[in-house]
Amino acid sequence: MSGAVLPYLPHHTPEVFVTHCIIPIGGGNEIGASSYYIEFDGVRLLLDCGIRPGGPAFYPDYNFLLSTRLDAFWELDAVILSHAHYDHIGSLPYLTSQVDRLEILSSFQTRELTSLQLYTLGRKPGKKAAAGDFCFYRENQILRAVDMIQPLPFEKEIRYKNFSVTLFPAGHMPGAAMTLIQTANHKILYTGDFCDMDYPLTDGYRLPDGLNPDTVILCGTHAYRPYYAGELRLEDVLRGIHALFGRGINAAVPVRNISKGIEFATLMDKCMERGMLQECIITLDHKLSAIADAFEDMNYPVYSKNLRNSSASPGKGLPVLAVVSEPFTGPGFAGYDITDFSLHAGYEAVKQLIRKLKPRQTMIVHAEAGKRGGRNVITDLILRDGYQGDIFQGENGVIYEFE
Ligand SMILES: [Zn+2]
Repeated sequence: MSGAVLPYLPHHTPEVFVTHCIIPIGGGNEIGASSYYIEFDGVRLLLDCGIRPGGPAFYPDYNFLLSTRLDAFWELDAVILSHAHYDHIGSLPYLTSQVDRLEILSSFQTRELTSLQLYTLGRKPGKKAAAGDFCFYRENQILRAVDMIQPLPFEKEIRYKNFSVTLFPAGHMPGAAMTLIQTANHKILYTGDFCDMDYPLTDGYRLPDGLNPDTVILCGTHAYRPYYAGELRLEDVLRGIHALFGRGINAAVPVRNISKGIEFATLMDKCMERGMLQECIITLDHKLSAIADAFEDMNYPVYSKNLRNSSASPGKGLPVLAVVSEPFTGPGFAGYDITDFSLHAGYEAVKQLIRKLKPRQTMIVHAEAGKRGGRNVITDLILRDGYQGDIFQGENGVIYEFE
């Protein structure tokens, strides 16, 4: 078992054969390189296969899996992709380059957006993509990976040989899914990144009543931030932008996350429609425009009279709100920061989801527990509210055994 810790069964000895388990190999106690191996009733699945775009180790620890639970990746029954952000899909071409064939499942939108995202990985933002531009993966690697993705509909149980999968809308970004996995004796819900709030492009998550999963793997981005509401302080943002416009300065809003940038741009456009934001031209740079074009193709309307893609000429006489994929200070522009704008469920919403689902066990992942002491959703629910189920933080490289 190569030194793996088995913290879940208190009387466990390393000789006991582990039958049902979850192993975070990335994205446990961190945000980045999400990848969770699960094995229940003989079904072996990998949930997401991300990267750490700027991190010291780029990929999840696939070697740990290969030295503990798998001889090769073809032994996986499927890989399930929750949504098309790099920290959830970025190592897909690496994974598929190791096998002849792999069953990869995602929503239709996630398949389309994964393809686009992989083509721009490593590419310099801001300028229009051209032939010969650097991309982290070769084109044939990307084509091969995306070709293996089988798009699934939402809210329909799809049966495979010894398990079934049902996707539910997760909010967060177009195509993002929560995944219910049912094996012979287990029901596992993987939330992926999720959000409870409605935004112009993406409504909040939607789960039916009576789901009753035994186990939930929950992406709890804000699980250690009790004072974080998860809402954009819209008045503050509008006031800040108006202050710049009032001084004759255009606003440049840098966003690290492409879909968040587009969601923000459409939100500002809606504010303009309602008279909350003075008339201006909202522009997207090339990298954002490529994804916005894809959203449009999938019937998520982004563009309008005042919200334009990078190839449109800026209007004369109107102030400009430029949403950009990297910090930008052109003449007449000043940066405006929206780092507080999160498309992840806030602290109370994370607790509310656990209370609604009442699973026997909840593994929090995709959260930086080590950096924040004090109150968190685990101590709140168990110590304050007397919640009966187990809730614990998932750590990378630990084999968590289940009954
Ligand atoms: Zn995400």
